[in-house]
Amino acid sequence: MSFERGELIREGKSKQVFGVAGSDDKVILHYKDDATAFNGKKFGVVEDKARVNAAISWHLMQYVAKETGIRTHLIERLSDTDQLCEKVDIIMVEVVVRNIVAGSCARRFGREEGEVLPFPMIEWFYKSDPLDDPPMSDVHALTFGWAEQHELEYLRFAAAKVNKALCDFWDALGVDLVDFKIEFGRTPDGRILLADEISPDGCRLWEKGTRRKLDKDVFRRDLGDLGDTYRELYTRIFGNELGA
Ligand code: UDP
Repeated sequence: MSFERGELIREGKSKQVFGVAGSDDKVILHYKDDATAFNGKKFGVVEDKARVNAAISWHLMQYVAKETGIRTHLIERLSDTDQLCEKVDIIMVEVVVRNIVAGSCARRFGREEGEVLPFPMIEWFYKSDPLDDPPMSDVHALTFGWAEQHELEYLRFAAAKVNKALCDFWDALGVDLVDFKIEFGRTPDGRILLADEISPDGCRLWEKGTRRKLDKDVFRRDLGDLGDTYRELYTRIFGNELGA
């Protein structure tokens, strides 16, 4: 069966979401080469970013699903940059898991970047571009109706399992998983699925030993060429170089 792009449903910073002609329970996720940081205040186009992120996200989502049993929204790879997914209603709670202090955790709490946490830290951020994704706790999600108690409990449980699986994955490749952000969505029949993407855009990845950054911080902090970094990551994972 072939799936044709329908109308553009949503334009995000690094992806577009299209409907699927003749189907109302599926979407097509299209990855773009656009890179943004600081909530869109910094912008660039990075050659190959879409293909690398789509390939890595597909691979990591499938890996996580196999290792943990957590279900994802992915259905089929349609091309290098397009993925057929179940249509979900995204839960407005961004789930961040940290193993090592970095980024906003260092800034907010005055901690040293690189401090290894005694156990993984799971945090919620309210998914809102106009508000710059503020940090929040259960009480905000519950009071404002963004998630129910049982959903938060599932998100916490799933995030911990995803973290364990991803730590093992990156560990074997000589990389420390510092932190990452994931999102979940609800299906009309009440299932919660791991949605969006798991890619170096939403993770911090440090080379073991050197702590060289292999993620979007290279772009955020002007540390080098993000395209080179992402292609290097691709080769680390798949063993071969990204084709032309
Ligand atoms: N992150 C993300 N999208 C966001 C905010 C954060 O993917 O809108 C990821 C980010 O790449 C990092 C983790 O979540 O891997 C934790 O980010 P942090 O809270 O430290 O914020 P930042 O330093 O990026 O402002």
